[in-house]
Parts: sequence; C-alpha cells; structure tokens
Amino acid sequence: MELSHILYHLGEDRKKYYNAVCPPIIQSSNFVFDDLNSFREAIGDESKHTIYTRGNNPTVTILRKKLAALEKSEDALVMGSGSAAIAAAVVSNVKAGDHIVCIQSPYSWTYKLLTNILTRFGVSHTFVDGTKLEAIEEAIQPNTTLLYLESPNSLTFELQDLTACAELAKKNGLITIIDNSYASPIFQQPITHGIDIVIHSGTKYLNGHSDVVVGIICSSKKLIKKIFDDSYMTLGAIISPSDAALVLRGLRTLELRMQRSFKSCEKIVSYLSNHLKVEQIYYPFLPTFPQYNLAKKQMNGTGGLFSIQVKADHITQVEDFFHRLERFLLAVSWGGHESLVLPICGLYNIKGKENPSLPWNLLRFYIGLEDPDWLIEDLDNAFKALP
Ligand SMILES: *Cc1c(COP(=O)(O)O)cnc(C)c1O
Repeated sequence: MELSHILYHLGEDRKKYYNAVCPPIIQSSNFVFDDLNSFREAIGDESKHTIYTRGNNPTVTILRKKLAALEKSEDALVMGSGSAAIAAAVVSNVKAGDHIVCIQSPYSWTYKLLTNILTRFGVSHTFVDGTKLEAIEEAIQPNTTLLYLESPNSLTFELQDLTACAELAKKNGLITIIDNSYASPIFQQPITHGIDIVIHSGTKYLNGHSDVVVGIICSSKKLIKKIFDDSYMTLGAIISPSDAALVLRGLRTLELRMQRSFKSCEKIVSYLSNHLKVEQIYYPFLPTFPQYNLAKKQMNGTGGLFSIQVKADHITQVEDFFHRLERFLLAVSWGGHESLVLPICGLYNIKGKENPSLPWNLLRFYIGLEDPDWLIEDLDNAFKALP
C-alpha cells in the first residue's frame, strides 16, 4: 500500500460523516444498540465491535488502521503512552516462571517493568549486549518465552540484526518485541524482518508536535486480539478520542517531518564530524559508526537523533558549552518540531540518585524542523566555550 494512501485516505470513510475531510472526534464513552441481537453479537467479541470507548472508539479505529498499515502489520492498538504499550505487550505474553531476554539498557521504564514489576510476579530476565547475536543466543533458557529488542536505542544507538534475531527467536519458539520509536515506520519496518510485535512511543515522531503522549502496538491479528482481550482492556490505558484526532493530524505530515529531520541531521552530523572539539559522534549513518553496515541494511534513514562527546577536561566546560546554546531547548523526549539537547551532565550530581553510567561529556541532540544552518550557527558559537 502506498504511503500517500495510508497517510491521507486509509480508514477514512467520509460518507459516514457529512463528507468531512477531517476524521470526526467521536467524544463518546458509550455506544447504543438497536436491538438485543446486535447487542448480544457485540458482547460476544468486544474486539470486533464498538460498545464502549475503553475497547473501541471510531476515531481511534481510524488511527489504528493507518498505524497497522505503516508498519505493514495486520492490526494495531493505540494506548495512552509508549510505556503502557510496552507493558501491555510484554505482560500479555508472559506468565509466572517465564524468562525474558532483553537488550541491555533499554528505555528506562522498560527496564523498570522488567526489574521492579515483573520479578514480583515470577517473571525473570537477562540483559544482553544486543550487538552480538551469540550473546542473545547464550542467554536463552528453556523457560525463555520473549526476546525484547530496541534498535537503535535512543542515546547511543546500538542496533540488533533484526532478521537474525527473528530467525533465532523462531528457532527457539520465542515471541519478539521491538521498540521502533527511533526509526519510525518511515525508516524501519521490523515486521518485514520477521519481528512479531512493534511498539512505538507515538509521543515522539508519530504525533510529532510535542502535544500528545501516546503508545502504539503493531502485530498480527492474532497477537493483537490476545493483547486486546487480556491487558489492553484490563489496564484501560487508552488514548482519548480528541488526542487520537491530534495524532491523526500529526500523521498527515509524518513523511515530510521525518525526511526534513533526517536531512538536517545528516548536514549537522557532517559539520560535527569535522569539528576539532568533538571527541566522538554516535550516529548510525556515519561510516565510522561500528554498526554502519547493519544500519544501512535495515534502515532507510535515521530521523533527527544523534549524540556527541565533546572534548573537555572538566564537567564545567561542558556546562559552559551547553549554556551557550540558544536554539536548542533543554528537554527529554524528541520527535517534535523543535530541536532539543539532553546534556548527560544534567543527570550528574542529583541528590538521592546515582550518577549515570554514560560520560558527562555526552550530549544527545534532536534535530527538529528548523533551518539546519541556523542550528549550526548556534553550535559554532557554543563550541567557543571549549578549550
Ligand atoms: C519515550 C520513549 C518510550 C516511552 O514512551 P512514552 O510515550 O513516553 O510512554 C519508550 N521507548 C523509547 C525508545 C522512548 O524514547
């Protein structure tokens, strides 16, 4: 299916709503039935019928169709956050006594799901270096049921070989889940590599305007129904119809935004790769990146994220560098119109918290939709703070 059809038409049945160009916001918790027979039929399988908005809602249904098609999956679920989507997908696929193999340092709340919550219910895990297939294979135990991937991750961008991981998982009867938030479906479609379940923090690129927190699960009809009937309806972490409409609006420009961020990011990384005050760049499409070939093989682009380590003798010099930046906002998250910087030094020396394992001279950048030359000017000025 063509991207243009998915983004601008799929799932939209305009005749049903006065030929309106934009999808309607069906802000209703409840849906009525004409007779007992249709009521009985709906209650018989809520996943196929619109009864109550915690299950199905027409605005959310339009969004689900587009997201499933974008990931080349059969179906999709939309949840109130990426974290909720991860929790629902994982919880619906494990039971007490099971073991999960997960790539090391996943997204922080994924880490907490495995370490703080699932261990309380008898589900164990092993974190492995996902850049090495042998490490994943060695960690598989007789009771392993799930392989959890995140490729690339969103700070230092380690990848996993998706095709190889999917093959390994199939051989061992494991379900594979990947957090695909970094690449978006525009640049990476894990289902086509044999991965079973794709998760997104739609808060990032898919919504793309920094105004909605939303999570996505894409998979086969069978696995989506399993999650729907199990944790989706029980956790009830749904998105509101009006937020779903905002995400639908965000999707209209998804391809444009991704291409713009990617192009600008390439230009800025190229400027930085020649800069004498940059010690190291973390960016999958840079030929010096350790997994450059794999990145090129399984992704068509990168979006706007990269990290650098700047040359500095002391943390205060990195702080000075950061303070000189005027056109990058200090914030977590990414994927909106605005460029951001996340200086790891800002995670150091927080009372009651351990310092992170990442070095203090690392800064994660997100390139939004601004003119890249205007951003380079800002970086150029900030580098004057370094020795
Ligand atoms: C932000 C993020 C999440 C969590 O998504 P929320 O929408 O904030 O709950 C999960 N994984 C990655 C890689 C993220 O960047």
